[in-house]
Amino acid sequence: MGQHYKLFIGGEWKKSSEEFAAINPYTSNVWASISQASEADVGSAISAARDAFESTWRKTSGRDRARLLMKLAELLERNGDRMATLESTDNGKVIRETRNQMSFSARQYEFFAGYADKLWGSVIPLDQRDVFDYATREPIGVAALITAWNSPMGLLSNKLAPALAAGNTVVIKPSEHASATTAELCGLAEEAGFPAGVINLVMGDANVGRALVSGDVDCVSFTGSPNAGRAIASMAGRRLIPVTMELGGKSPNIVFADADLDRAVVGALAGIFGATGQTCIAGSRLLVQRPVYKEMIQRLASRAEKIVLGNPLDRSTEMGTAANRPQLDKILDFIKVAKDEGARLVTGGERPTDKALKDGFFVKPTIFADVDNRMTIAQEEVFGPVLSIIPFGTEEEAVAIATDTRYGLASGIWTQDISRAFRMSREMRAGTVWVNTYRVSACQAPFGGVKESGFGRERGEQALDAFTVCKNVMIDFSAEERDPFSVRT
Ligand code: NAD
Repeated sequence: MGQHYKLFIGGEWKKSSEEFAAINPYTSNVWASISQASEADVGSAISAARDAFESTWRKTSGRDRARLLMKLAELLERNGDRMATLESTDNGKVIRETRNQMSFSARQYEFFAGYADKLWGSVIPLDQRDVFDYATREPIGVAALITAWNSPMGLLSNKLAPALAAGNTVVIKPSEHASATTAELCGLAEEAGFPAGVINLVMGDANVGRALVSGDVDCVSFTGSPNAGRAIASMAGRRLIPVTMELGGKSPNIVFADADLDRAVVGALAGIFGATGQTCIAGSRLLVQRPVYKEMIQRLASRAEKIVLGNPLDRSTEMGTAANRPQLDKILDFIKVAKDEGARLVTGGERPTDKALKDGFFVKPTIFADVDNRMTIAQEEVFGPVLSIIPFGTEEEAVAIATDTRYGLASGIWTQDISRAFRMSREMRAGTVWVNTYRVSACQAPFGGVKESGFGRERGEQALDAFTVCKNVMIDFSAEERDPFSVRT
């Protein structure tokens, strides 16, 4: 076994007595080991974050925080190839995507560095003209950051960059299925010169997450499944601390007959086979208007069958593996249920049989057509390369099907009619709407969900809301005595 990844608490690397294995989903082999945090470790990490917040970080100037974030961005970009290789090894995502994700993550630290010394407050003119009023944005304190396995660096940057820029200290808990790059990032933060205790890392399963959320943290930012989100929001509710929830999706990607079909085909592929469909924003329901329904199915199937599966570290590979064994089993179960419920299998629907792929957790790119939106495959998040194609007639019908879901993360609309693009965008119940594109991510653009896809926003200026609290200050400069028994309005 190669590398061992340790916990990072109060600026010290700590090897714990218990450890768990990091499995390479392409080879099924253990490639690294990870220190498993105990409850006591979680408590120490929170205390270290609290001490660093009180003694150092909340007193550090925005300019100095910005400099450290810029340094972290530079180090991440400089280490981008190595970090991408590690992430692809850990979660089976193709290197052409993980490499981009490293640059994207670096860009987020850079972008939020720009805010660190620009967290303006406001001066508020009151009716009481002899009271000077100003409102400031202050850090909340110790933030618990819990992430999923599908894009450890990207998901973490959504949280860590605004949290640090706003002056919070953090305890990070990555997924037990992909922890390596998060530990590496803590190493880069140490190299960048962040003071001890500002960034802490505990690793392990959901129990570690539970200990963290029920500990003395001041807010939680969570990315993961709705079920875990519900459990975390309940725990946070008991403690009355704010939470941000970035949860799952069952996003509709809607193709009208007037769309540029060449681009729509690419957008549909990107939506469901990009990242092996293991992305919260997967366009897993493709709604296609009847005049182009058959043609879309045929074109998609023919391209899906040519998708190159292979070693995620090979630049020519287009689709990697399911990221872990439980996820592979889950995807295969959903495929079985879809078949049982009568969805028409167009292509895929099984594991590849090629010898070169036999050790990896691969699933063939899978397309079901003639799917009814009430079927399990259209309602449940598969989180894998499984597309459900649903026909529709009118715009109203498309809206009804698209919004008939408990999720609301993203949606795609393909049309050349600008009025329809606006009408449809207005009708979508989702945090993100893409028109004539899919899966564009930008640090400037707010991202998040509605309904069971969660609440709160990451990226963009809105991301700072989750990590700041407003303080209002009133200063009476009149020197007058007031009636103590009546509120002064
Ligand atoms: P998961 O909910 O099983 O785990 C996510 C993280 O939460 C892990 O670190 C896990 O250890 C921890 N955890 C699980 N239960 C917990 C509990 N009760 N208390 C505290 N911590 C707990 O999700 P996953 O399988 O790792 O990720 C896949 C899910 O993440 C999908 O639903 C996907 O849509 C979602 N996701 C959402 C976004 C987004 O931005 N909206 C992005 C990526 C992934």
